[in-house]
Amino acid sequence: MERLHQTLHGILQSIENAATLASRPNAVRLLAVSKTRPPEAVRELAQAGQRAFGENYVQEALAKIGALPGLGLEWHLIGHLQSNKCREAAEHFDWVQSVDRAKLVDALDRARPESMSPLNVLVQVNVDGEAGKSGCRPDDVPVLADHIAASPRLRLRGLMAIPEPHPDPDQRRDAFRRLKALFDAVAARHPGVDTLSMGMSEDFELAIAEGSTLVRVGTALFGARGQ
Ligand SMILES: *Cc1c(COP(=O)(O)O)cnc(C)c1O
Repeated sequence: MERLHQTLHGILQSIENAATLASRPNAVRLLAVSKTRPPEAVRELAQAGQRAFGENYVQEALAKIGALPGLGLEWHLIGHLQSNKCREAAEHFDWVQSVDRAKLVDALDRARPESMSPLNVLVQVNVDGEAGKSGCRPDDVPVLADHIAASPRLRLRGLMAIPEPHPDPDQRRDAFRRLKALFDAVAARHPGVDTLSMGMSEDFELAIAEGSTLVRVGTALFGARGQ
């Protein structure tokens, strides 16, 4: 327990160092990726001040969200979203980062309850054009972004991507740069766009150097995931 607090503070320090080096102090947030972790681990981090948590699977997330009421947490869906899960996602999450096709935009917009504030949405981009991977093509980003921005129950906030885990850091840097350029183009068209979600345990410092505003960290925070 004590260890989780220390690890959190070490990661926050590394994020802040990288952000300061990039002349963007206080401009990068941590999303704690809690998939496969028990609610108790989330509660521990919440007690240490962490607010934003990321989950990949809607059913797992709903159980966790239900087990942790009243903590003021911010829940992000970062895993692949099927259209038959859009209603639950729209009713229980604060953000959906994995929107990669028009059908999801319409389903989330229809399902977001009037009693809640608009759902924050990121366009997921398959930046390296990998076969079988979630995310829209880079060329499809502008149309999808316009569609989200025109949906009353959604709020377009930016882009998310999982670049190919290339062993060569220069190749990863190149993917982050291409994402930053796409992000700048979307932000120039849409005033509310402020979030570029890129960088994970292995490469969040590099991602911050290239313009990330939100890093998604699981393993470096909680340790290796079980099988
Ligand atoms: C699991 C996951 C992460 C966290 O990855 P780590 O390498 O454990 O930090 C980040 N983003 C997405 C979309 C994930 O599925």
